[in-house]
Amino acid sequence: MSILQTFSLEGKTALITGGNSGIGFGIGRAFGQAGARVAFVCSKQASLERGYENYERAGVDAKGWLCDVSDEDRVAEVVAEVERELGPVGILVNNAGIVKRMPSLEMSAADFRHIVDINLSGQFIVTKAVIPSMQKLGGGKVINIGSIMSEIGRANVAAYNAAKGGVKILTSSLADEYGEYNIQVNAIGPGFIITDMTKALRTPQPDGTPHPMKAFVEKRTPAARWGTPADIAGPALFLASSASNYVNGHMLYVDGGLVATFGKI
Ligand code: NDP
Repeated sequence: MSILQTFSLEGKTALITGGNSGIGFGIGRAFGQAGARVAFVCSKQASLERGYENYERAGVDAKGWLCDVSDEDRVAEVVAEVERELGPVGILVNNAGIVKRMPSLEMSAADFRHIVDINLSGQFIVTKAVIPSMQKLGGGKVINIGSIMSEIGRANVAAYNAAKGGVKILTSSLADEYGEYNIQVNAIGPGFIITDMTKALRTPQPDGTPHPMKAFVEKRTPAARWGTPADIAGPALFLASSASNYVNGHMLYVDGGLVATFGKI
């Protein structure tokens, strides 16, 4: 097998949570182009429809399901359907996530739990549902989407950051637990990426001045720009393919160098 062939996903079934748009769609499109059968889940009907439109426009055949990743029964049902229709899941990308930006004193415990439920517990729930198939297949790939916030703190996003910090240790713990089955569990920590989730941070303020976060990210990031979903797709393909068979429990920051650096004055 040539080195380029080790990056092929031909014959594999990939399940991407939140794969209808943003980073998840960028990954799903790349996996489809690399030969995988693509399944995606999201929690809203409008997102499902948008997902089908996105894949159709990209010329990638993909099938979507409505599924809340924090609902264990629904996840089991959907994974069974995916496997009936597209074959056993050999690649899972735990990408679904939500953020709520507010001072911690204003956040209710219920909101905190909800954010952890989707961003962290959801990854555990979906992973648990696919590991048995991966064991039967003789191997598999799990890619958890963390964040630069898996590593560093930031005000007004404590719940999100706590969940993303948990993603890092969930990843290494599951890598330890299932490595002997030839299952690799790795994570990607995106920096600031242009998607719906960060739209508010790039939208001009009511008085028309640019949002300060837009320029701050450009200045703080060695790459001097925001990232795009396409920037995440290549690293995700590496972690989904046999090219990364000896990479396990790793958190790969795809952040233009942000986490590695102190920042210039
Ligand atoms: P988007 O808001 O564009 O995508 C989030 C996706 O998650 C949507 O498809 C959404 O669909 C889905 N989702 C949300 N809640 C659930 C749920 N309960 N069950 C199933 N699906 C759900 O954001 P991004 O593409 O930016 O984010 C993707 C991932 O990347 C997230 O985990 C995020 O935390 C992470 N990330 C993003 C960064 C960025 O700068 N954009 C930086 C670092 C990490 P629906 O609404 O229909 O449920």
